[in-house]
Amino acid sequence: MADQPADVVAAALETYARLPKHGKPAVRDNGVREWTVFASIVLTRLPSPPIVASIGTGVKCLPANRLPPLGDTVRDSHAEVLARRGFVRYLLSEAAAALEDGSDVLSYSEGQFVLRGGVQVWLYISALPCGDASTLHTAAHQDVATASSFRGIEEALSAVEGAARGRSGYANLGAIRTKPGRKDALASISFSCSDKIALWCGLGLQGGLLANFAPVYLDHVVVGGVVAPKEGERREGWRETIRGEVERAVYGRLEGVGESSWGMLTPALPSPYALHRPQIHLTDVAFPFDKPQGDSVTANTSLSFVAGYKPEVLVNGCVQTSGWRAPGHALLKDKLRSRVSRIETMRAFLALEALIPQPSSGDEGVVTYASLKARNGRYAAAKRILRGELGKPVGAEWNLPHEFRATAGDAPLAGWIVAGERIV
Ligand SMILES: [Zn+2]
Repeated sequence: MADQPADVVAAALETYARLPKHGKPAVRDNGVREWTVFASIVLTRLPSPPIVASIGTGVKCLPANRLPPLGDTVRDSHAEVLARRGFVRYLLSEAAAALEDGSDVLSYSEGQFVLRGGVQVWLYISALPCGDASTLHTAAHQDVATASSFRGIEEALSAVEGAARGRSGYANLGAIRTKPGRKDALASISFSCSDKIALWCGLGLQGGLLANFAPVYLDHVVVGGVVAPKEGERREGWRETIRGEVERAVYGRLEGVGESSWGMLTPALPSPYALHRPQIHLTDVAFPFDKPQGDSVTANTSLSFVAGYKPEVLVNGCVQTSGWRAPGHALLKDKLRSRVSRIETMRAFLALEALIPQPSSGDEGVVTYASLKARNGRYAAAKRILRGELGKPVGAEWNLPHEFRATAGDAPLAGWIVAGERIV
């Protein structure tokens, strides 16, 4: 195969091109063009053609004061996050197939779903992931006026210990960051895609719920939209510099885990978790709805596609027209709930569990509730090593509707904000 990254990008964009227009960026009545970010998780197993497992598009996330306490709304609709959530749904449907009539990508043995040998996992993103990986690139391309208008709002909002807000503090490379909003938008506590991809390099893409899956790690990341600065000495070697930035942001920041520092051994990730270092590729292929030159706005809609399902169009983290209300304890109606929401993903997981043959007592090497729980415990421990222990509640200045806490400690991604008590 001559150029595998190019084949992966082409397969992802062709799948997107075949999806209906609804939910894709458009030209508004006043002639202004909408744009968005595209991400896709693609599986390859040579010599078969690539499988486009999931697609996400979007640049929006819910502001901190609009976070619903129930797991029925998708809080973060950035492309990479929707692609990852869609991939979890894809894994669940492939797992059901593996139990029934067989799957080309997953096998089930000894109580565990495992990727078949030779299957490689790719993440293609049409632009540099927000946060740490794109900080240098954004700084090199930003005009002076935009830079100073961002500075005002960010200085007004205090950062949580360890985390930088949005685009503040360019010089602070390596910092975990909340998602940048427009300067007039309310603060978000969703962490940047750079930070989330870094977590996936330590914990896998499958998340904590899929405890009966061997961790599924990224083997390759392909990134588009890298442009050299117009002038200055930086032009030379720019692509290599940016590729290095992506490597540093998505796994380089976790390199110290499990190594000795000043004679002290930091805790290593518990097996089966281990730091994986995906190969980073850059592509010149353009996504049709990249940010254009001239007047443009970001699209309000996000798109979620999972292989084997109809695509979903999301607004404010719900399907299509917003059924979003102020945070409450009543669930959204079924039809407004996205299949990639936490609740729907859990439902699909429980449906899969029901398909798994129950062991007769005394069987060796079969899955049990206790072994799943132990596995979940190791996942939680690995997460604590990467993000730190739960620390203080987040301050009132964030205007949050319920309790959130920031993680603390020596962990590489300390300062992460998590729900104080997760309901779902
Ligand atoms: Zn992002």
